[in-house]
Amino acid sequence: MEDLLLIPGPVQLSPAVLEALARQPLAHTSPEFIGSFGSSLDMLGKIFLSKTAQPMIVSGSGTLAMECAISNLIEPGDKALVVSSGYFGDRFQPLIERHGGEVTLLSVEAGEAPSAEAAETMLEHGGYRLMTVTHVDTSTGVATDIKRFAEIARRHNVLLVVDSVCGIGGMEFRMDEWDVDLCLTGSQKALAAPAGLAILMIGQRALERFHARKEPSRSYYADWAQWLPIMKAYSECRPAYFATPAVNLFSALEATLREILAEGIENRWARHKQMSSFFKDELEQLGFEAVPSGRAVAATTMSAYYYGKLADSTLCSKVKNRGVTLAGGIHKDIKDRYFRVGHMGNVTESQLEQALKAIKSCL
Ligand SMILES: *Cc1c(COP(=O)(O)O)cnc(C)c1O
Repeated sequence: MEDLLLIPGPVQLSPAVLEALARQPLAHTSPEFIGSFGSSLDMLGKIFLSKTAQPMIVSGSGTLAMECAISNLIEPGDKALVVSSGYFGDRFQPLIERHGGEVTLLSVEAGEAPSAEAAETMLEHGGYRLMTVTHVDTSTGVATDIKRFAEIARRHNVLLVVDSVCGIGGMEFRMDEWDVDLCLTGSQKALAAPAGLAILMIGQRALERFHARKEPSRSYYADWAQWLPIMKAYSECRPAYFATPAVNLFSALEATLREILAEGIENRWARHKQMSSFFKDELEQLGFEAVPSGRAVAATTMSAYYYGKLADSTLCSKVKNRGVTLAGGIHKDIKDRYFRVGHMGNVTESQLEQALKAIKSCL
């Protein structure tokens, strides 16, 4: 029997997604592929809740989605505020610097949520062009209040780039209503597709900023000047080529997006909330202490808990011997002291019960 995969991405795939992966590849210029790509672009609008943003799907992982955003929005000398709640938030700093931007880092202790007030104080000192915020930092399981950060971004006229790799599809996110400029994700987390697709929703202000660039993006592959015409063509059911899309992954993505919309995005958020409360309550009853500083700032797509006195860093390998794959820690300050469990996508409560049983038997 296969292991039960419960890490914060990649996640288990549904039968329809597996089937899409197993078919012979489509020609990337065929009407079938173009139709499928076009529908996926269309469905993304319904999942990010945006009628106005430009969807973009490029072969590559979530990190490419981050670079695709930054390399097109940052010009040499631009000041950026990087609001970080952990490992993935921190990653924006070298990325922005690589593209010539100047970074101010606003970070918090592991488990704390970043404060919008602190960010606003920094923005008041002016001159920032862009702010990055991580919706769910997968290293700590902390969720950030994106709506609040969007309000302050608007007040200070900076572009807001949100990394929702571990949020979109599982946690509430309203791109238009909250007025976010760019939101990015990867295919293998709460969207429950295989790893390998970088997904962006680019708002109108971000597009304007891109079109006003003084010099072209320094990235050849990630350049929106190359990709925007391709996305337009696919939306209009015309063939176009810049670089070969990972065709089978696109078929798998289409299958999962259809499943998400069939469930209903708000129902899906509610289901994740319920699974998360169930799982967190059970772990806390066993005596585990959460990494996030409170339930209000804890993500519902995953859980992060300290081993405490109950276990140690051998827990994941012991649980693996019982057929359940969990993840260890990655936050630099607490790395060896905690473990992480992904419960996003198609995970069911009975699978979480199986994981709890395996964990209990290892304590
Ligand atoms: C996983 C993750 C990434 C990186 O995505 P890759 O697909 O591993 O490149 C970035 N940000 C967050 C919040 C993530 O969870």
